[in-house]
Amino acid sequence: MIEKIDEAIRQLLQNARSIVIVSHIRPDADAVGSLLGLGLPLLAAGKQVQLVLQDGLPERYAFLPGADKVARAVQSGFDTLITVDCSDLKRTGTVLADLRAPDLNIDHHATNLFFGAINLVEPEASATAYVLSRHLPDWGLPVSAESAQCLLAGILGDTIGFRTSATDSQTLRAAAALMDKGADLPMVYRQTLLSRSIPELRYWGQGLIKIQHEGALLWSALTLDDRIKAGYPENDDADLINLLSSVSGLRVVVLFIEQAPDRVKVSWRSAEGIDVSGLAFEFGGGGHAAAAGADVGGSLDEVVEKVLTKTKQLLANS
Ligand code: 5GP
Ligand code: MN
Repeated sequence: MIEKIDEAIRQLLQNARSIVIVSHIRPDADAVGSLLGLGLPLLAAGKQVQLVLQDGLPERYAFLPGADKVARAVQSGFDTLITVDCSDLKRTGTVLADLRAPDLNIDHHATNLFFGAINLVEPEASATAYVLSRHLPDWGLPVSAESAQCLLAGILGDTIGFRTSATDSQTLRAAAALMDKGADLPMVYRQTLLSRSIPELRYWGQGLIKIQHEGALLWSALTLDDRIKAGYPENDDADLINLLSSVSGLRVVVLFIEQAPDRVKVSWRSAEGIDVSGLAFEFGGGGHAAAAGADVGGSLDEVVEKVLTKTKQLLANS
């Protein structure tokens, strides 16, 4: 089965001359690492490649090779369209709004909607970058040191430094193979997971003073005003959710990040045995059992109320 898909992808990429690769809004390390980790080998193979992120490249990933090639919009004239790390088309934002369905959808979310002509979706995989690291050679695309650096960033980001439940021995082997190709683990680890800016810490501070909890459920919110006050330049949570998840004894953590007066990004994290991906899917989003998210319409207060009610039901039933 996988071999047949690999052959189809190999042919698609071989015949392609001008390729667009897109990943998701509020890009994380796996989005950026997969985008560049696939894009660089295609460029090396002589293809024209557009690397597109609607929200642009966050400053923290500027150290990655090829980061300067990322654009915010698709230019016409391409023949092949690929998405990476997107479980549905909405995740790409509006950059593909008027375009046809992608030729290839590469992802690792169980909630993936199989919207591509070819769908390489591996829900057990720890990261989309891991999927790519395993398949690139089968497509006739050697992984350079530069590509390896990007793919390792993706794996480290989604496994939070090899500590999520999706981190298996295959992931560690893949990471070791990327190091053998030239990826610098300590440097990528530091840049992707440890390095913080003062605006990020201020933004965290805004979220930390607002934490609330009820039993094993903890939640907080970041408003647009918090973002402005902190001087934080991105529209994500600056990884605050991972800090909140480190509180012991919790079963579910929810973070609300106001995006507009009528739109809120919701992030869920859960302990073993609680699957929050279905809940995120119900709210129009998706993700994994232990980490999921959704963009929900409504004011911050409305969304908090709606989402907490459903989340408490899930907790009571698990
Ligand atoms: P995060 O909470 O860190 O944004 O995302 C957690 C997981 O859920 C990631 O795998 C991410 O790709 C997925 N996810 C987050 N937000 C959305 C969304 O709005 N739609 C979908 N389909 N998946 C999301
Ligand atoms: Mn991912």
